[in-house]
Amino acid sequence: MSDILDQEIMFLPGVGPKRAELLDKELGIKTFRDLIYYYPYKYIDRTKFYKIAEIHTQMPYIQVKGKIISLETIGAGPKQRLVAKFRDDTGIMELLWFRGIKYQKETLKINTGYTIFGKPSEFNGRMNVVHPEMEPEGSQQLKPSGIFQGYYITSENMKKKFINSKVINKLELILLEKVKGKINETLPASLIKKLKLASLEEALSNIHKPENTYELKKARFRLKFEELFFIQLKILSLKLLRDNKFKGFRFSKIGYNFNTFYHNHLPFELTNAQKKVVREIRKDVGGNHQMNRLLQGDVGSGKTLVALMSMLIAIDNEFQASLMAPTEILAQQHYNSISALLSGMNIEIGLLTGSTKASERQAIHEKLQSGEMHILIGTHALIEDTVQFKHLGLVVIDEQHRFGVAQRAKLWKKNQFTPPHVLVMTATPIPRTLAMTVYGDLDVSIIDELPPGRKPVQTLHFFDNKRAKLNEFIRKQVRAGRQAYIVYPLISESEKMDYKNLEEGFRYAQETFPEFRISMVHGRMKSKLKDREMQKFKNKETDIMVATTVIEVGVDVPNATIMVIESAERFGLSQLHQLRGRVGRGTGQSFCILMSSYKIGNESRKRLETMIRTNDGFEIAEMDMKLRGPGDIEGTQQSGIGFDLKIANLGKDGEILQLARDKATEILQDDPQLEKKENLLLRKHLFTNQNTEFNWGSIS
Ligand code: ADP
Ligand code: MG
Repeated sequence: MSDILDQEIMFLPGVGPKRAELLDKELGIKTFRDLIYYYPYKYIDRTKFYKIAEIHTQMPYIQVKGKIISLETIGAGPKQRLVAKFRDDTGIMELLWFRGIKYQKETLKINTGYTIFGKPSEFNGRMNVVHPEMEPEGSQQLKPSGIFQGYYITSENMKKKFINSKVINKLELILLEKVKGKINETLPASLIKKLKLASLEEALSNIHKPENTYELKKARFRLKFEELFFIQLKILSLKLLRDNKFKGFRFSKIGYNFNTFYHNHLPFELTNAQKKVVREIRKDVGGNHQMNRLLQGDVGSGKTLVALMSMLIAIDNEFQASLMAPTEILAQQHYNSISALLSGMNIEIGLLTGSTKASERQAIHEKLQSGEMHILIGTHALIEDTVQFKHLGLVVIDEQHRFGVAQRAKLWKKNQFTPPHVLVMTATPIPRTLAMTVYGDLDVSIIDELPPGRKPVQTLHFFDNKRAKLNEFIRKQVRAGRQAYIVYPLISESEKMDYKNLEEGFRYAQETFPEFRISMVHGRMKSKLKDREMQKFKNKETDIMVATTVIEVGVDVPNATIMVIESAERFGLSQLHQLRGRVGRGTGQSFCILMSSYKIGNESRKRLETMIRTNDGFEIAEMDMKLRGPGDIEGTQQSGIGFDLKIANLGKDGEILQLARDKATEILQDDPQLEKKENLLLRKHLFTNQNTEFNWGSIS
């Protein structure tokens, strides 16, 4: 059965080969479907009228009822224009035409009522509109797209070739006319009925030419729901398929290593939240299914320990485990701290990063294949195909965000038949809506408790004029035996400048605190050197660490109690929160000081205010998404799901998303393979829709 929406856009009246090429190139519009799913980004309310006396140039558009009282051509040549004086009961304005003068002159009538529409400007002290839309009183013709007129994003290139928003609008109307009565519904009838959704055809029609706000709202709801519903259906059916397809390795016993560690090596009591999560993991890996779990916990909540204990369970069951971190510093640090925690136990641990020497690498490869090596810690380097394990049972991915669905899929292939269990740990809490989408295929554990004795970090905002006070404060703290970080922004567009700032900052710190030992790390340093500097700071051989955001994730120096963030207005919220998480890790009171210039934008101000108001990572994550929009949140692009949302907004449409997820769950519970007649259309959509670039290949 052919679908009219599959037709090439070239064949739409008013398009043709040239415009088709442009639409494809600029907007990716190839078919009727692509065009009809190209939604307006705003609407203008054509029910609103203004009086001439009210008009000012700040208004994006005006609609005025009045009469033309005079009409004359002025000037000659290219400067020639037609000027109409237009009057209502509050004043007079001008309407101007530079093109089509002859035509306008013939059609416009003096002393007749018109509604005019357009963007107001001012010339010689009088308001005017250039090339207004004109609608004779009493006629409805000039409301081409209903009462609300849709506005579409078009590129400069398109505008040059005269395809502006208005033209797109017109094409949409032609298209709607053409496909009327022929649009196939994509959602099951029962769902539409239960949720009182608009039909697809209604929704598509009303999204382009809504007659009133109610219809527009209904259309948007339907289209948002559909968009989110198909993503959820896709994610959940992938999860279902995977759960059914893969028997997981069964880690049936809790053995010698786990118990020895727990009773003899654990330096402190686990928090209740850590215990709860360890239990959840034990339950997962002890069953028949492959574990795919997301561990969320605020900075400093002790995720590493949970990871380590899970790895010990794997080892007790004669499996190997690996821990993947996003940076070398972090991998190194995990290697150091885990080695220390396990010292005296008979466990072989390896470290593999981009800078591991070839000979060492070779040795590691061999030990992995022979099974001699129990735990491999590393960076991305360990998902390379050359890294082969004898019996990989568990993969822990730390500080997630940076690995998407696709990369996780790669890990599953590490074993020929059965994929390892996967535990993903996030650096910063992720807003719920984002977790449901980007990590929607994972089960979730949450550590919602910090280890005892932690005092919440105090956050302060200083303008640059308080620098003397700040320096005094740092001096006092360091004299008392504490350590401090001073962080400078590093944003790629102006990398050079940033390094200059950093180096100046380093020199400034040396001059200001001649009595203290100061180290510096940044991303351009050789990783050996970087690690050495980090290690020195950690061993308290230096007092102040001047750094870029390379220290952002995971670095653990409990004695550091001051975090100064320079030009804090340039950092994103989750970054600020991460950085703040570097202090407050011991028992001393810690401080985070946000330095900024006087001139900061509104959004920056909101970010700083949020930081001062709360220490709660979940709240900050929600705020971050509100301020930035979900598209910018790290991880969405790499999610591998390949969705780009056209109408739904993860920051604002949480409720619709939850509804969509619930409905998708219900349907899959009732009919996992989508084989029932009523669900066939869902099945078809899932497998044919282009936007469903899902990595089915990786699981079959
Ligand atoms: P994150 O969740 O940010 O990765 P870490 O695992 O790095 O946190 O732990 C932060 C700090 O808290 C580390 O110094 C760690 O040793 C310590 N820690 C972890 N669990 C506990 C606990 N139950 N009691 C006390 N300290 C703990
Ligand atoms: Mg960590």
